[in-house]
Amino acid sequence: MGIYYKSEEEVELIRKSSLLVGKTLAEVAKHLEPGVTTKQLDKIAEEFIRDHRAKPTFKGYGGFPASLCTSINEVVVHGIPNTVPLENGDVVSIDCGVFMNGFNGDSAYTFEVGEVDREVKQLLEVTKECLNRSIEAVKLGGRMGDVGYACQSHAESYDYGVVRELVGHGLGKELHEKPEVPNYGYAGKGLKLREGLVLAIEPMINLGDRRVKQLNDGWSIVTIDNKPSAHFEHDVAIINGKTEVLSTFKYIEEVIKNR
Ligand code: MG
Ligand code: MG
Repeated sequence: MGIYYKSEEEVELIRKSSLLVGKTLAEVAKHLEPGVTTKQLDKIAEEFIRDHRAKPTFKGYGGFPASLCTSINEVVVHGIPNTVPLENGDVVSIDCGVFMNGFNGDSAYTFEVGEVDREVKQLLEVTKECLNRSIEAVKLGGRMGDVGYACQSHAESYDYGVVRELVGHGLGKELHEKPEVPNYGYAGKGLKLREGLVLAIEPMINLGDRRVKQLNDGWSIVTIDNKPSAHFEHDVAIINGKTEVLSTFKYIEEVIKNR
C-alpha cells in the first residue's frame, strides 16, 4: 500500500484524537512525581482515554501490554509500564496513542522527575527544538530529507546521537502508516511533501552514542552506552497548502508551569 493522503475532514478527526492525547499526557503530568510508578500512570491514562469514549491505541498493538510507553532514562522508546517508583532526577518519555472516530492521535513528551542534571535538562530542551525545527521543515512541495536534516543538524551540533533504527511515520486510520519519517537525512532529497500528508514526527536523541539495542522484554529500546535519551512527538498535517500541528503540549506545559 502506498501513502494515504487525507481530506480536510479526516485531518480534523486526527486533530481531535491528537488533542485527546495531549490532554491525557497532561492528566498523567499531574501525577508525575518521585515515588509514583509508571504502572499507576498507565492506569490514569487508560481511564482518562476511556472516559472520553476513545480507545488506547497502544494496548494490544503488536501485543504491547499497556496504554502508554514509559521510557525512563537510558530507555529510548517502547518502555513497558512497571511497578518501579520513579526517582528524583529521572527523565521519562511518555508516549500515548488514542483511537477515536476511526482515526489515531500519537504524541510523546519527555518529563523531568524532580530535579534533573543540567546536561540532561539541555538534552530535553534540544530534542524539543529538534522537533520544532523538523516541523518548520514540513512544507508543501518540500522533501522528507528536509525534515530529517533539520533535526539531525541541530542535534549533532550538540554532539548528541540521533537514533536511526526508529523513525516517525504517517498517521491516520492506522497508527503506523507510510511514509517513514527519519530524524536524519539530506536537505532536498527524498519524498516530495504533498497536500493531505499527515505525519507523526518523533525525534529520539541520545546524550551519547546514537546506537541502541532491544531488551529481552521484547519491547524496550535502550541506548548502547546506558546514557539518557529524550523523545518528543507531534502530529503534523499539510492541508490547504499549509502546515498545521494537530497535537499540542499546551495542556502538559500548563501543568508543569503550575507545579
Ligand atoms: Mg508515539
Ligand atoms: Mg509515533
